[in-house]
Amino acid sequence: MSEPRPLSPRTLAAQALGRIDERTRAIVPPIHISTTFERDPDNLYRSGNSYGRPDNETVREAEAVIGALEGAQATLVFGSGMSAAIALFLSLGPGAQAVAPKGMYWALRAWLANEAKAHGISVDFVNAEDSPALARALKPGATKLVWLETPSNPLWGVSDIEGAARAAHAAGAVLAVDSTCATPVFTRPIALGADVVMHSATKYLNGHSDVIAGALSFARHDALCERARMIRQSHGTILHPFEAFLLTRGLRTLDLRVRAAAANAMELANRLSNHAAVSAVLYPGLPHHPGHDVARRQMKGGFGGMLSIRVRGGPEAAIATAARARLWKRATSLGGVESLIEHRASIEGPSSPCPADLLRLSAGVEDVEDLWRDIDEALRG
Ligand code: PLP
Repeated sequence: MSEPRPLSPRTLAAQALGRIDERTRAIVPPIHISTTFERDPDNLYRSGNSYGRPDNETVREAEAVIGALEGAQATLVFGSGMSAAIALFLSLGPGAQAVAPKGMYWALRAWLANEAKAHGISVDFVNAEDSPALARALKPGATKLVWLETPSNPLWGVSDIEGAARAAHAAGAVLAVDSTCATPVFTRPIALGADVVMHSATKYLNGHSDVIAGALSFARHDALCERARMIRQSHGTILHPFEAFLLTRGLRTLDLRVRAAAANAMELANRLSNHAAVSAVLYPGLPHHPGHDVARRQMKGGFGGMLSIRVRGGPEAAIATAARARLWKRATSLGGVESLIEHRASIEGPSSPCPADLLRLSAGVEDVEDLWRDIDEALRG
């Protein structure tokens, strides 16, 4: 008899892996909020639950869904994307050297540049979209971790995960990928050779702008994963059960939301490319984007819901455009069902590589004609 066809990620997520609550037969599992659990009479904890800071059943349910989507052996969910990423860097231990991209989420770049050394971790920044330059930056034996973010926020540079995995492994390092904006719908970094996948689950995984959360998914349930778990436990950075429940609820519709947002982003990127008030559109789905060929190879089925535009009139015109938008909400963050617009340089400050005339657009799932009319009118002034 032939093996049954494995269920698709969309099916697995829609049913949150199809678990039914044993006692009530509920389709939606209950939220476990207890911080403490009764010991067995012989003093053991056979239920696997002892206290809420190390672990929680509702958190484990979200971890199981994310792990299935990423093809991971183990997943840890945290109280934010930042706490997830920082736990991984701290897991390397003092004396470690890491390599990170010049183009990446600004607050993590700031932590790596300013805070990591206080923990004995040195970080070299490299243009990760240039694979040979990335390989040259690795110090065999000394480099413990290579960090990628693809597509990278907010310039949407694309880096080659397979090439980086080969280079990292040859140097004795692990490869971790911030896949927040690619999402497991379009990219599965572990299948491309990555050892760890990180998400700001605040964004697409939850998808409704009402939870701050993060995740680390590990290709192998190894010592690095256990270090990160210990750091989560001792720092108390596990996600709260209510938020974990909302995260699982959001994950059920991840596939639908992300495909709808990406279709909107692709359509808007094409139209904005011909707009008189726009000097450049940054979107990996456009054929002239420098990372388009790599994106076509490693992003299956879409290029994500994020794009940026450079406004021909300069920084003031960019800020005025955002001020005129009505449907696009002027707000930070991304990956929710509602479309957001943001002048990034105002947030990132002078150390940012982000041009001052750039507006970042997080395409939501609204009707694309409504989104187009609003941004077109805002750009026309
Ligand atoms: N990585 C990326 C690509 C992000 O955009 C963000 C937040 O904007 C983070 C990480 C940090 O995540 P959080 O805000 O959930 O801590």
